[in-house]
Amino acid sequence: MTSTISPTGFISKRAKQRLIDTLRQKGIQNEAVLSAIADSPRHDFVEEALKSRAYEDKALPIGYRQTISQPYVVALMTERLLGKQSRLRAVLEIGTGSGFQTSVLSKLVDRVYTIERVGPLFRRAKEYFSEQGINNVFLRHADGTAGWPTRRPFDGVIVTAATPQIPEALFAQLIDGGTLVAPEGQEGKQKLSTWKKTGQQFQHQSFRDVTFVPLETGVEH
Ligand code: SAH
Repeated sequence: MTSTISPTGFISKRAKQRLIDTLRQKGIQNEAVLSAIADSPRHDFVEEALKSRAYEDKALPIGYRQTISQPYVVALMTERLLGKQSRLRAVLEIGTGSGFQTSVLSKLVDRVYTIERVGPLFRRAKEYFSEQGINNVFLRHADGTAGWPTRRPFDGVIVTAATPQIPEALFAQLIDGGTLVAPEGQEGKQKLSTWKKTGQQFQHQSFRDVTFVPLETGVEH
């Protein structure tokens, strides 16, 4: 490599390595997940004024009362979604937001279907994936509580906004053996939870307190 690395690029490379070290220290073990995060430029998903903080292990505002998730939580949810598998075929994500979690998934999943209810966030993410030539991400501007019935079934479903009651449609659109990951609960007291589907039965596990913005209904244009 020659001298064309920009000051920002240079800083972000070191900061990114520190972030990956932090994720390891916090217990993330799946190397494929760590590589997918290392390959996702988080500074592309935050506004100009926050770029210098993009590699902190913190949630940051993205406008429209929403946040980009904390990298550790993105890593943890992705790890739980994958389970023992190294790659999944199709995943449904509810809450595209900045598109950072989507970008991480796009490196580990053949096809990522992602739904966002806030118009400007949807359009920004759509433009980003198209500009980057990432063609295994399919975006939709809709209320994700109904899932994406015409693209079902999914090997995994990931919900990145909190709700006390996971919408029934999302369970219905999972394959047998599939996993749903979501922050479960009311504002202020949520637990990261997984549901593993076996036939019509679900094995439920709650494993960590988290803070997410709420899952809302309807769309904003
Ligand atoms: N994974 C995202 C998280 C964004 S915050 C990131 O790291 O950037 C959660 C997102 O869920 C917000 O963008 C919010 O608008 C969206 N959301 C909330 N309820 C929704 C619903 N019913 N359908 C689709 N998106 C929803």
